[in-house]
Amino acid sequence: MRLDILYRGPLASCNYGCEYCPFAKRKDDREALALDRAQWQRFLGWVGAQPPTDAIGVLVTPWGEALIRRWYREGLTELSHLPQITRCAIQTNLSAPLDWVAEANPERLALWCTYHPEWTSEAAFLAQCRILDQHGIAYSVGVVGQREHEAAARAIRAALPANTYVWINAVKALGYAPDEIALWRSIDPLFELNNQRYPSLGKACGAGERAITVDGDGAMRRCHFISDVIGNIYDADWQRALAPRPCSQLDCHCHIGYVHLDYLELGKVFATGLLERVPTPEARAGGVRLPVL
Ligand code: SF4
Ligand code: SF4
Repeated sequence: MRLDILYRGPLASCNYGCEYCPFAKRKDDREALALDRAQWQRFLGWVGAQPPTDAIGVLVTPWGEALIRRWYREGLTELSHLPQITRCAIQTNLSAPLDWVAEANPERLALWCTYHPEWTSEAAFLAQCRILDQHGIAYSVGVVGQREHEAAARAIRAALPANTYVWINAVKALGYAPDEIALWRSIDPLFELNNQRYPSLGKACGAGERAITVDGDGAMRRCHFISDVIGNIYDADWQRALAPRPCSQLDCHCHIGYVHLDYLELGKVFATGLLERVPTPEARAGGVRLPVL
């Protein structure tokens, strides 16, 4: 079996306070944290019980910041050593300690890091990136494409090694002017790929077949954008839910969704870096035809 799983437990708290985010400076109480930990550990056990010949990718997409919790650091380390894991990755603000990555398998662990210049310094963020580089951990770095972040995005791009991919998350509601698109594109050569709402209604999508989302209680959904539950990984017949289905949404505009839309063929752009959002060097250099550019 080959399957990518986007895992999201009940944790919904963060040490940062981004003003646009509902989890900003939110705290989970002890009970909520204990539940999150127990459900994550159950999930780890479930992955470990799958046949070693499977090819499972895991991307943790928490509501808040998960790496500040020890159980996620230990769990990702554990996953990275499992034979059935092709990739285990997590979306993070990269503020947590990183000593644990020394124990992880660098061929499988990867991080999707977002730089929040209003909550950390460039020097502190770069120091964290250097630790990842020292341990050979794959990662991408991203910045939310708000106008006030332009200088910080440009500076972090310049300061990071050239082979580290920096993405800019397009805020579609801002309706970028052509000169702004050119500006963001000078930082992220694939910016326009993210600055789209891809028509998806009725189109073939791997979400629900090649990729699913899983909640802490095991509930399976096609993706984070369609709320229908299609099964539960803790049921014996869970694999019966994996089937091709056309999309029921008008459009798809997040990387974690549209990368599964068949007609976009984004496997050619991201290859093994799909989960942590790292395109191939060829795609970054403009050597792969993009669907919309
Ligand atoms: S770092 Fe992420 S989760 Fe935390 S407040 Fe900012 S956007 Fe929200
Ligand atoms: S196109 Fe997007 S919204 Fe539709 S099924 Fe795929 S991931 Fe989900």
